[in-house]
Amino acid sequence: MISRIKGTNDIIEDSKVWEWLEESLKKVVLNFGFVEIRTPIFEATELFDRSVGNETDIVQKEMYTFEDKGGRSITLRPEGTAPVMRAFIENNLFSKGLPQKFFYYGPMFRYERPQAGRMRQFHQFGVELIGSPLPISDAMIILIAVEMLKSIGLNKFKLKINSTGDEKCRPTYVEALKAYYKPFLNDLCDDCKVRYDRNVLRLLDCKRDAKYAENAPKITDYLCDDCKAHFDRLRKYLDDMEIEYEVDPSIVRGLDYYTRTVFEFKYPSLGAQDAIGGGGRYDGLIEELGGSKTPAIGFAFGIERLILALNEEGKIPKTEGLDIYVISVDEEQKIEALKVANALSNYFKVDVDVMGRNLKGQFSHASKENDSVWQMAKTGNRH
Ligand code: AMP
Repeated sequence: MISRIKGTNDIIEDSKVWEWLEESLKKVVLNFGFVEIRTPIFEATELFDRSVGNETDIVQKEMYTFEDKGGRSITLRPEGTAPVMRAFIENNLFSKGLPQKFFYYGPMFRYERPQAGRMRQFHQFGVELIGSPLPISDAMIILIAVEMLKSIGLNKFKLKINSTGDEKCRPTYVEALKAYYKPFLNDLCDDCKVRYDRNVLRLLDCKRDAKYAENAPKITDYLCDDCKAHFDRLRKYLDDMEIEYEVDPSIVRGLDYYTRTVFEFKYPSLGAQDAIGGGGRYDGLIEELGGSKTPAIGFAFGIERLILALNEEGKIPKTEGLDIYVISVDEEQKIEALKVANALSNYFKVDVDVMGRNLKGQFSHASKENDSVWQMAKTGNRH
């Protein structure tokens, strides 16, 4: 027997839940005028080196990279933002006017140590708003994320926000952070010893070295006037919309391309893998990838973790079953039953016998299907 690859999953029993989840999330973003973008599952490795950052864990350790038969270095996408920005530049979408609003949904690949909520092939639903530098676009993106969670019935999430500054103020902060961590360098975990030189911000979100992060300098004390004004305005907008959040200086995100606003949605009862989604602003990314300087902000939810959270809250919709099973008395009637079922299928969930069952067998099969066939339940109004 050939088994599936470690860290991947077959979605069989849950496929109706997945469909319902995708449709529910999609409905929110479609109503806000976002359009779907479908990019390839693999890209040139350089795309992720240049965007996610070659000093990050993703690029250093987690990418599925291989050489194709033409000798090109190819990588299965570990995240969705860089491919969307590559497509934005390559298809000259800039010329279509700003803002441009996209969402994507699909599998991502990271060679991580599999555990509950952490897969090597997992799925993300992501949203990108390209073109605006203004905090109102940050507010819109966070509002949409919150509405998406509410639309599927999730309530017990925590929104954490932070600002990582920009190219003006971040270097000073990085120096302050290095100075703070220097005396503890020998006590840090092996990963953090490497991160100290390569990506010192990541020391803040290391779970093993969390005790040092508590007293570390906070980026919010180092923001330049522009970054501070941006962050303050965003907070005011969130307050105006009565969106609850906590400012958490340890939210730095694992990717290099973020500037200013970063945020994460946590679902505390999920344990170690409690981030159900996250995102932020990436004003320099499009330029870094060869486009003209264009600010943007976005986020992605992890589908597997949303399903874990839905299970925790008991919010997986109930099954309702089949509407009509068209029974045939004998062999000749089978085709008539199929025709009747076809006509009814415009309005109802229908089925017919294809196994040659007798009358009694059809009744008991119909009843079994009624119990097991899953139908989307109403999830209630978002507002
Ligand atoms: P990231 O941009 O890395 O924070 O990913 C966004 C979201 O995708 C996270 O908040 C998780 O919900 C989900 N995610 C990231 N990596 C994995 C993984 N290996 N397995 C399952 N979900 C993941």
